[in-house]
Amino acid sequence: MLIAGPCTLESYEKALKDAQECKRLGIEYFRAGAFKPRTTPDSFQGLREEGIQILSRIKKEVGIKIVTELVSAEFLSLYENVDIIQIGSRNCQNFELLKVVAGCDKPILLKRGFGMTIKEFIGAADYLKVYGAKDIILCERGIKTFENSTRNTLDFAAVPIIQNETDYKIIIDPSHGTGRRELVIPMSKAALAIGSDGLIVEATEKPECALTDGFQTIDYEQLSQLKKIYDAQKASI
Ligand code: PEP
Ligand code: MN
Repeated sequence: MLIAGPCTLESYEKALKDAQECKRLGIEYFRAGAFKPRTTPDSFQGLREEGIQILSRIKKEVGIKIVTELVSAEFLSLYENVDIIQIGSRNCQNFELLKVVAGCDKPILLKRGFGMTIKEFIGAADYLKVYGAKDIILCERGIKTFENSTRNTLDFAAVPIIQNETDYKIIIDPSHGTGRRELVIPMSKAALAIGSDGLIVEATEKPECALTDGFQTIDYEQLSQLKKIYDAQKASI
C-alpha cells in the first residue's frame, strides 16, 4: 500500500489540493493529521474535530481513502468515515487505547514507538489482535539512536523479522524515519527492495511552507517519482 499526504491538515483548501494530486497519481490512501501529538504545548495542535470533518468531506469529494491518527479513545466516535486509524509512535504502548481501538472494526496502522524494541512492538500489535482487530498494519518509522544525521534511525530489519515471525503487514515511513526530504526516495527504494508491504510518506504542494515537518515532506514532483518507483517494484513481484 502507498499512503501519502501532508503531516498536518492545515486547511480544507490545501488538503483538498493534496488529496486531488494523490488521486491523480493513482495513490489509494490520503494521510493528514487532524489531532497532532506535538512535543510542546505552544505548537499548533491541529484542527482537531474540524479536521476530521474536513477529511470526511475530502473523502467524498475526491474519492480517496483516509488515514489519520487517533490520539485518544474519547474521539473515536468522530472517526466513522476514516478508512484506516493510525496510532502514532507516542501511543504505541498506550495499551488502554489499543484495547478500545481494536474493537472498532477498521484497519489499524500502528507506528512503532521510537524507544521500543521489535519484540515490544510485536507485543503492542498483539494487544490489537487479542482485543479483536482483524486488519493490523505495522509501521517502522525509525527509532532514537546516537545517530543524529537523521531525525530517527530506520530499522529495516523490522520488516523481515515481523514478516517471518508474525502475520502482521509492515510498511515503512521514510519521512519520520529520516527527517530529511532528500532521503525519502532512497529509503523508499530500500524499503521496497527489502519487501516492505508499503510506504507512508509526507507530501504536500509546498513543503517549505508546511506548519509541521516540512523538512521531511516531499513535493508533487518527488511524489510522482516515488509513485513510479512503487509501481515498477509492484510490477516486478
Ligand atoms: C505522523 O505520521 O504524522 C506522526 C506523528 O508520526 P509518528 O507517530 O511516527 O511520529
Ligand atoms: Mn509528521
